[in-house]
Amino acid sequence: MAIIVQKYGGTSVGDVERIKKVAERIKSYRDDGHQMVVVVSARSGVTNELIARAEAITPLPSEREMDQLLAVGEQETIALTAIALQAIGVPAISYTGAQAGILTDKAHTKARIHSIDATRLKTDLNAGNVIILAGFQGISPEGQTTTLGRGGSDLSAIAIASAIKADKCEIYTDVDGVYTADPRIVKTARKIEEISYDEMLELASAGSKVMQNRSVEFAKKYDVVFEVRSSFNYNPGTIVKEEVASMEKVVVRGVAVDKNQSKVVITNLADKPGSAAKVFRALADAHIVVDMIVQNAGSNGVANLTFTAPANEVSKATRALEPVLKELGGSISSQDQVAKLSVVGVGMKTHSGVAATLFQSLADSGVNIDLISTSEIKITVSIAQAKADEAARAVHTAFGLDKA
Ligand code: ASP
Ligand code: MG
Repeated sequence: MAIIVQKYGGTSVGDVERIKKVAERIKSYRDDGHQMVVVVSARSGVTNELIARAEAITPLPSEREMDQLLAVGEQETIALTAIALQAIGVPAISYTGAQAGILTDKAHTKARIHSIDATRLKTDLNAGNVIILAGFQGISPEGQTTTLGRGGSDLSAIAIASAIKADKCEIYTDVDGVYTADPRIVKTARKIEEISYDEMLELASAGSKVMQNRSVEFAKKYDVVFEVRSSFNYNPGTIVKEEVASMEKVVVRGVAVDKNQSKVVITNLADKPGSAAKVFRALADAHIVVDMIVQNAGSNGVANLTFTAPANEVSKATRALEPVLKELGGSISSQDQVAKLSVVGVGMKTHSGVAATLFQSLADSGVNIDLISTSEIKITVSIAQAKADEAARAVHTAFGLDKA
């Protein structure tokens, strides 16, 4: 008998029929003798719909009230899931975040979990109940409802698994796991059996996001092994865990493509201490997430600075930079239809020639490389968006990912 935490995302509990299916799956685990704690998200679309309603009233609703509002989405699904279990003879109790003792700080809409007091939950669990826990929400020291940021149900699941020392944590979604590439683009993409936390985080930041990043960071910090799998079938998923030596045998674990990027170039920026700081402070204050940053060697007192950002943030970036450029000189231009292609793998730490293989395969497909950036386990290039799919296929093949 094991203690198992399962988390079902929005599509897995998308309607009443889906919720009944999920209840059947939970029942089969319980029939095998396991103790079950189940975290659920709001039905898919509900959180967005609630946000839209508030914003139809005012563009900047108060964050406290937004948390009150958004917590409703998960509250609906916990009750429906508990009702569905009870209807098939399984004792089940639903818990809001507050009832489950998920204590957070008071940062409304992006709260962090401080601690979990699982006493009550454990009592009900030991009495034979399935616990259905609302994801994405908690309670602040002042007794206020808080939420954990979009996609936060993943974090709720990892945190509760850690708090009750679960034997197993399963994250159910609408895909079979983490793939070597997007199967819609790369037909030969394969499901990855095991991946390290760091690889998962890098793939997500490169455009292959399966889970909320904070939840993966939390799992890494507290060493929570989990499995990402589909609630629409019974296939095994992808195990996410601490890096082990055997993982380094694979040089590249996956290829990620992000087609929604733009490139911003600042030319003739004053080449002096503080220029870059001012540029990126202005971008940070405008909450723009900047990715690849490249600066060339300055000459004649000026330098060019280039970065990529999500395509829909470029006009905001340009506006944010106007006052800075007035002060420092320089002019700004942007180019859209840019894609980022990344290869990720812990094996890069111990293998050489990864960049050479990547660049050669792009050259062989006639793809021009624009910017290049690297980290210990990732190489990213920016290329033309129109070439991105073809490039992903070529690179996938070049690193031997087509075959197991
Ligand atoms: N319902 C929340 C959201 O849509 C939390 C989650 O689904 O994980 O962001
Ligand atoms: Mg979700």
